[in-house]
Amino acid sequence: MVAMRQFTRMVGVFHVVCHECAFEGLYERHATAVSERDEHARACDHRMTLLEIDRSKPLSRA
Ligand SMILES: [Zn+2]
Repeated sequence: MVAMRQFTRMVGVFHVVCHECAFEGLYERHATAVSERDEHARACDHRMTLLEIDRSKPLSRA
């Protein structure tokens, strides 16, 4: 049962960025990030990037 705790700590952050406007978002759920990305890409026909950020690692850039 102790080992199960590891899974609940494996939470990343998903960063959605649009390359063609100011749209940007941070999501804790991958499914949410994907749906937000797809919705914006479909609605605006913009190029999007979805990055997974591991919060256990320090970010070297702001
Ligand atoms: Zn956009």
